[in-house]
Amino acid sequence: MQALFFTQKTKKLSVLEPLSIVKTKRNAYFCAKIKTLNPKIMNIGWILIIVIGIVGWLVQLKLKSVFAKYSKVLSPGGLTGAQIAQKMLNDNGIYDVSVTCIKGQLTDHYDPTKKTVNLSEDVYRMNSVSAAAVAAHECGHAVQHKVGYAPLRLRSALVPAVNISSKLSMIVIIIGLLIINTFPALFWVGIAMFAMVFMFSVVTLPVEFNASRRALAWLESSNSLSETELAQAKEALGWAASTYVVAALSSLASLLYYIGLGSSRR
Ligand SMILES: [Zn+2]
Repeated sequence: MQALFFTQKTKKLSVLEPLSIVKTKRNAYFCAKIKTLNPKIMNIGWILIIVIGIVGWLVQLKLKSVFAKYSKVLSPGGLTGAQIAQKMLNDNGIYDVSVTCIKGQLTDHYDPTKKTVNLSEDVYRMNSVSAAAVAAHECGHAVQHKVGYAPLRLRSALVPAVNISSKLSMIVIIIGLLIINTFPALFWVGIAMFAMVFMFSVVTLPVEFNASRRALAWLESSNSLSETELAQAKEALGWAASTYVVAALSSLASLLYYIGLGSSRR
């Protein structure tokens, strides 16, 4: 018991050692304060990870049910998702982007490198409110690309670094934690890599919200959907956008947890 006490005391003294160099009461107060905050940051991170995980699961369930519901509501013009996409592209003066059909569900995306609006089979072939909303949303990204929408440009620029960071950050953080007392820099490199992934999820938010705004504005101005169906499309796209908010919050919670974990081990 005494040995443990002594070890803890020694550890505490070594942590506070740099303060003797600074020799100011104010700095001593803030450093001690940050030290006591670390376990709190870690606990807040844990609680957030669990809460956001549950919220994320519920949002996914709601998203699927809303899309299933509105995939049964046929759009008045009778245009399929592919036709809606082609029309929106042309109305925006875009003629160098092709609309293609890809496998899977909710796999729809715009590929700026190949200049293709990739629609999942259901969206491509069906003439429902869900299909129209998704197809128009993906074309919203094509319009962003054409007008050089700044958050999309930033997001595209981050892609190569984020691809590497998302694959390696966990390994670097784990190794960094193991050797944190001998080589603390590695842990912070891992944190910086994870922070990049978090930043990417934040930059994604305006890109997604703006694409939906462009989609709804076009669906209304082109009379592709009536007022009631437009409200349904807005609801569906709203739930889709919520998943990106949850992803960003989840990323922030993990970042807080890792920072707390690393700081408390030092
Ligand atoms: Zn999108």
